[in-house]
Amino acid sequence: MEATLLSLALFQSVGSLERDFTLATTTGLNPIRLRDGGNPGNGSRRALASQRAAIAREQLGECHWCAHRCGVNRLAGQRGPCHAGPEGRIFSARIEVGDESDVCPVFAVSFSGCDLRCDFCNTGRESWDASAGSVPEGVEREALLGRIGRAWESGAVRSLMILGGEPTIHLSSALELVAALPDALPVVWKTNAHGTPESNALLDGVFDAWVADLKFGNDDCARRIARVERYCSTVHDNLQWAAGHTRLIVRHLLLPGHLDCCWRPAAAWLAEQLPQAEVSLRTGFWPGWFSDRHPELKTPGRRSEAQEAFQIGIEAGLRLIE
Ligand code: SF4
Repeated sequence: MEATLLSLALFQSVGSLERDFTLATTTGLNPIRLRDGGNPGNGSRRALASQRAAIAREQLGECHWCAHRCGVNRLAGQRGPCHAGPEGRIFSARIEVGDESDVCPVFAVSFSGCDLRCDFCNTGRESWDASAGSVPEGVEREALLGRIGRAWESGAVRSLMILGGEPTIHLSSALELVAALPDALPVVWKTNAHGTPESNALLDGVFDAWVADLKFGNDDCARRIARVERYCSTVHDNLQWAAGHTRLIVRHLLLPGHLDCCWRPAAAWLAEQLPQAEVSLRTGFWPGWFSDRHPELKTPGRRSEAQEAFQIGIEAGLRLIE
């Protein structure tokens, strides 16, 4: 709690961030406000995030935040498939320009570790290794908050993006971070959408937008490439939940050779189930990490496949965004 108060004091000292709600519009990002009923008491996002963070801390004693539902006691030193401990570690915190244009540039805070094991992961070890990076404490935490505050106050970024790895496995730390930020700063949750109703309940009303992956169009590819079971039903449920609770951008990275098995069925599902969702089709695949385990993933994405993929999206009537 002391750290939170210090953080708030720091924000107030670096500028009148509390009254700078207009920054969100002057820099071009439509601020997506909280849904009615999502806020407690005084309606402050910081207060909501702080309350949820406290609940999340207790849930670390029996974790069900991702669909692995391993139920380990992370407070007692037990570790589940994500290998994450009780404190979220951060391996990168910087301004980035590679995300969707409507939220970009972002100040991206990346938490270490993930509950999935996608062989094509292009951020490599830190995304998998929950011990990578560090837990920002004391002056380091204040410095991080100061950097975010200055980036926002100066108009250098349009939003803060919390990502990973996968941030869902670090819900308590992520919510504590949001609880130290000004309400006016748009915050974006970048997720693999492999969470649970429990994690969704903690996130409800806190984030202005989700950028959520729909990586595969069938369970066989998900099992082979990301070693995860029941991928489609889990992610579909979470995307539908998110669409009803926040602004949703669904991201699909086109995998070489997966046009018909993954993108085509994913596009059809989106068209039928989430016709209002914004869809970000990413075509810049390159064969990083363990992609060479899969013959079709050994080469970068092909232009001809990208063109066909966009045509599929257009014909499906998707709301494609850049
Ligand atoms: S987030 Fe980690 S500890 Fe929690 S359910 Fe998932 S794998 Fe288990």
